[in-house]
Amino acid sequence: MKILISDAFDASLPNRLKKFGEVTDDKSQLADANVVLIRSKTKAKKDYIDSAPNLKLIIRGGVGLDNVDLDYAKEKGIEVHNTPEASSVAVAELAFALMISVPNRLIEAHSTMKEGRWEKKALKRTELMGKTLGLIGVGRIGTVLANRARAFGMHVIGYDKFVTYSDLVELKSLDEVLAAADYISLHVPLNSDTEGLINKETIAKMKDGIVVINTGRGLCVNAEDMGDALKSGKVAHYATDVWPSDPPPEDYPVLSAPKVTMTPHIGASTKENLLRIGDQVVEIIENFKG
Ligand code: NAD
Repeated sequence: MKILISDAFDASLPNRLKKFGEVTDDKSQLADANVVLIRSKTKAKKDYIDSAPNLKLIIRGGVGLDNVDLDYAKEKGIEVHNTPEASSVAVAELAFALMISVPNRLIEAHSTMKEGRWEKKALKRTELMGKTLGLIGVGRIGTVLANRARAFGMHVIGYDKFVTYSDLVELKSLDEVLAAADYISLHVPLNSDTEGLINKETIAKMKDGIVVINTGRGLCVNAEDMGDALKSGKVAHYATDVWPSDPPPEDYPVLSAPKVTMTPHIGASTKENLLRIGDQVVEIIENFKG
């Protein structure tokens, strides 16, 4: 079996995979590969799959499968697996970090001190306790975040198209969540329903001064509409880890908008998560019958 590691995984992984066959990170060997390991950088679309005539298994280390052409892979008899459980804590902790940094004004406090300013009077903070967190997507990551938010005394509500029961989240319609939340956090996959889900119509249904956190997918938010809402103050703050592409185009409206906190798609990039992803990759290859 020839295994191509196409994206960044834990440094220990090549050694752990040697028992299954030849392991390489040389992308020019795609044509000979039987298994490819990808994260979000490699796009396993039709052209990529056509360049890999010996491919039998694609493993996406992580959750979102929007970078894989699942239908075409199936047509070619290629199995596709992801490692959905591994990343939940890593992403939820980043969503929580973004959420708690906003009312505590951490970025402004740090930046003004770096500029030699002492803004003690101006930097009034607010608390998360007693505020309502509205989740859009109450799956694995949303649920881990709900648990942390409840520990901080937040009331957690959520909308999910398919989930009908949750121990931790009061499930509501999308409109109810938009209207009641003080903080909204996105945890849906990117699909035709969720692309542009946050747009001028949905933003208009939110409370004035809403804080939106996005560790889901950049394209779930209409960036022009978000830019306008940040300029008008309707959205008090947009904190995002995710982008339409990695990196985003220079003229992407969020980059120049006021009141944004940005991270370069690092939601899954904890040391612990990369080790968990490695464990799941080994398990998937062990169980692979092809
Ligand atoms: P999950 O499948 O456990 O949860 C997603 C939830 O969204 C499900 O409960 C599903 O029912 C719901 N859903 C699907 N379509 C919907 C729709 N149209 N409207 C409302 N709800 C809908 O997935 P997860 O592990 O919680 O991950 C969620 C997303 O987070 C991933 O799809 C991925 O896009 C993103 N993610 C980002 C990072 C990062 O680095 N920032 C890392 C991992 C995952």
